[in-house]
Amino acid sequence: MASGGDGDGDPIRHWILGDGGATKITRITPVGGGCINAANRYDTDAGSFFVKTNRGIDSSMFEAEAAGLDAMYRTNTVRVPKPLKAGSLPRGGSFIIMEYIEFGGSTLHGQRELGRMLGKMHKAGISDRGFGFEMDNTIGSTPQPNPWTPDWITFFRDHRIGHQLELLLTNYSDQQIYEKGKKLLEKIPYLLRDLKDVQPCLLHGDLWSGNMAYDKDGKPVILDPACYYGHNEAEFGMSWCASFNSSFYDAYFKEMPKQKGFEDRLHLYKLYHYLNHYNLFGSSYRTQCISIISRYNNQL
Ligand code: ADP
Repeated sequence: MASGGDGDGDPIRHWILGDGGATKITRITPVGGGCINAANRYDTDAGSFFVKTNRGIDSSMFEAEAAGLDAMYRTNTVRVPKPLKAGSLPRGGSFIIMEYIEFGGSTLHGQRELGRMLGKMHKAGISDRGFGFEMDNTIGSTPQPNPWTPDWITFFRDHRIGHQLELLLTNYSDQQIYEKGKKLLEKIPYLLRDLKDVQPCLLHGDLWSGNMAYDKDGKPVILDPACYYGHNEAEFGMSWCASFNSSFYDAYFKEMPKQKGFEDRLHLYKLYHYLNHYNLFGSSYRTQCISIISRYNNQL
C-alpha cells in the first residue's frame, strides 16, 4: 500500500509525510533478517526510510534504540543510521523510523576500517556522568539496566552479571548457577584489579555479525545497538559471534591501546552475553556459563 495524504491516523505515515519531508509514499517493502521486530523500507519522493515496528512492546524499547543510535551518530565516527522518530502505534505497539542505508558494497579492508572506526567511537564517546546510559534499554529482548554508577566494577558486577543471574533464577529457578555466580560476583573486584582509571566509553553493546554491515561504498555500518557507557573491552563480549580478524584488532588497538590483562578479562565480558543467551534461548548455553564461572572461581 502506498499513498499521499497526511498520514490517515498512522503515526509512521504522518511523520514521513510531515517532518520527513515527503509528499508521497511510493512503495513499502518488507525487509527480512531481524531477530525481533518487523521491518519495512518506505520509498518516498523524499528518499527512503527504514521502519521497524513491534506490535507487542511499548515505545520504550525503540526510544532507547533511538537514543543509542543518536549517541553513536553524534560521535561522527563509525557509520550508524540516523534515528528520526520513535513512538507508539495507536492500537498498541511501537515503531522507529531511521535513515535507510543501502548495504552490500564491496570492501577490501572492511574489518580494518571497522576496527579503526570503533576505536575512534570509543575514544570520542566519553561520559561525564559515569557508567550507564541516559535510559535503560534491552539486550536482545532482555531488559538491560543502565543506572549511572560512578565506578565500573560496581556497574559491571551489579547491573550486568548480577542482573543476569537474578533473571536466571526467575526464569529457570537455576539455583546452582545462581550460587556459583554469587561467588563470582564477590571476586569481580579482584578479577578486574589490573584496571586503573577506566574511562566510561560509549559502547554499541551488542556487537555481533548480525549487527554489522557495509554500505554501498564499502564503509562499515553498525546497527541495532544496546548502548551504554562502559569499559571499552566489554564491547568484545559478543566477539564469539563476530568473526573479528587480526586486521580488525590491530586497527582497533592502534586507536585504543590494549590494556594489561585484556585476555584474562575477556571471558568475564563474554559471560554477560552467554548468561543473556541462556536467559533468552534456554539451557543449551548453560554449559558455557558454568565453565566460565568455574574457571574464574577456581582462580583464587
Ligand atoms: P531487529 O531489531 O529485529 O533485530 P535489525 O535492526 O537487526 O532488526 O534490522 C533487521 C534487518 O534490517 C538488518 O539485518 C538489516 O539487514 C536491515 N536494516 C537494519 N537497519 C537498516 C537501515 N537503517 N537501513 C536499511 N536496512 C536496515
